[in-house]
Amino acid sequence: MRKLLEGVSEFRRLRRSAYRETFARLAHGQQPDALLIACSDSRVAPNVFASTQPGDIFVVRNVGNLVPAPTEPPGASESAGLEFALRRLEVSDIIVCGHSSCGAMQALLAPASDLSRVSAWLRHAAPALERFRAGVRLPGDWTGADQLSQLNVLAQLEQIRAYPEARDRLNAGRLRLHGWWFDLVNTELRDYDAPSGAFVPLDEQRVQTILARMNANLDKNMDAEPSRHSPQRRTGR
Ligand SMILES: [Zn+2]
Repeated sequence: MRKLLEGVSEFRRLRRSAYRETFARLAHGQQPDALLIACSDSRVAPNVFASTQPGDIFVVRNVGNLVPAPTEPPGASESAGLEFALRRLEVSDIIVCGHSSCGAMQALLAPASDLSRVSAWLRHAAPALERFRAGVRLPGDWTGADQLSQLNVLAQLEQIRAYPEARDRLNAGRLRLHGWWFDLVNTELRDYDAPSGAFVPLDEQRVQTILARMNANLDKNMDAEPSRHSPQRRTGR
């Protein structure tokens, strides 16, 4: 807490004035184009590894970066966030971001009797655990918990695909899903590469390739559906 309070003080002294214009603009509404679903873990810092700024991403964070299946009873914050991001913010991209040395994945492999609420929550990772126990492995020299963590990112993306609002947008080419995984030891953000079935470094070359593909698809979509890209399409809350 001491670090937080000193940070508030430092922000007011050194950076607040530089952010005034940004927040004054954002006060009229947010227009993030991506939803990030990440683990609550303090070491997963998208503001650092993706250089994000206020207004850039709509964020849902929880223990294990999980999304309850759409068949679960309504009321979960995660499904509410997903619904709002798609139906109101009209985000074009959803990223599920897992990470190495994830305590949630370790708890999934070895449930602790004094973490009953954590265990109950981790039922949303059951599909990944089933695959892991069946021997499914992704390429790479990863620990068991890290393997499970990567399988979990993919399982959560599948769970997102099952939501009608996501499925419709995916079918219409208006939504992209991404699996990211942050390797703490190597400070390496990885991106799931479907052709190789592996999480590969999201290095400059891969970023440029993805951006080029996005630009090509944007041109195609603009020809087919110009109204979607009008500036009025998102109006904030
Ligand atoms: Zn974690």
